[in-house]
Amino acid sequence: MRELDGRPVAKAMRQEVAAGVRALVRDRGVRPCLAAVLVGSDPGSEVYVAGKQRDCERVGITSRLVRLPEDCTRERLVQTLEELSADREVHGILVQQPLPRQLDAAEASALVDPRKDVDGLTPLQAGRLLRGEPGFVPCTPLGVMEILRFYEIPVAGRHAVVVGRSTLVGRPVALLLLHANATVTICHSRTADLPAMTRQADILVAATGRPGLIRPEMVRRGAAVIDVGITRTDDGLVGDVDPAVAEAAELTPVPGGVGPMTRALLLRNTLEAARAWSSSA
Ligand code: NDP
Repeated sequence: MRELDGRPVAKAMRQEVAAGVRALVRDRGVRPCLAAVLVGSDPGSEVYVAGKQRDCERVGITSRLVRLPEDCTRERLVQTLEELSADREVHGILVQQPLPRQLDAAEASALVDPRKDVDGLTPLQAGRLLRGEPGFVPCTPLGVMEILRFYEIPVAGRHAVVVGRSTLVGRPVALLLLHANATVTICHSRTADLPAMTRQADILVAATGRPGLIRPEMVRRGAAVIDVGITRTDDGLVGDVDPAVAEAAELTPVPGGVGPMTRALLLRNTLEAARAWSSSA
């Protein structure tokens, strides 16, 4: 069945962002700037941050990388985030995860100025999402919704099943689907009969990090399946969904599905932060 390829969606979004950046520079003299805080030298994080910097460059967003040592103290991280929050040249801030053991990721995210919280992880932005008010939403859940929109998959009145309930992906995507008037079921590792739940889905979102968890017999024929999972294996990156699901359902590929969308939405959120800043300055 139709593949729900994220790459053309992300490409269109990058083009839109690039045009928005050009207009902001021309009309207001403001060039959006994204600052990434990288603590330590986790190889995966290095790759992600380098990718985000390249993405910024492609659309005309300035990127700044603040490196902190592996043994960074809480005080040093707090100070860095306060400085970036106060820096008038910086419009978006992200704290690359995972953080070393001695640091608390939830606390670090909460220290970012909510106006610069382009990852949507501060309590204020999470609260806005809960209430259905405008604000920054985490990029991956937004990416899921943009794929549904691009491929004209109706959401209102349909049954969406989300597998995974993390603060970063499962919960916010469930809220976005709810705000879009889906009937939403959230499943997790303690769900008693997962296949019975997933088989009811018109829209199935898998966000667990368990390769192959969703097998063909767990999916209703013709459903739209969004595979958020990314697991590194010897055979490359794999998702949560068995690729054989694509025979009877519409499926996002891994890689090339939600991943590119997450990256493009970080750029869009940064542009929005810069726009909001320039109109309030
Ligand atoms: P977490 O580990 O924080 O959450 C995983 C969720 O999956 C938990 O809610 C857990 O349930 C649930 N789960 C685990 N095993 C099962 C199971 N057997 N049956 C049902 N539910 C299960 O991960 P994240 O939400 O941060 O990420 C999920 C996946 O998405 C990962 O592979 C990650 O790499 C990927 N990801 C991809 C992104 C992208 O850009 N494409 C961006 C962000 C993440 P419980 O709460 O009960 O433990």
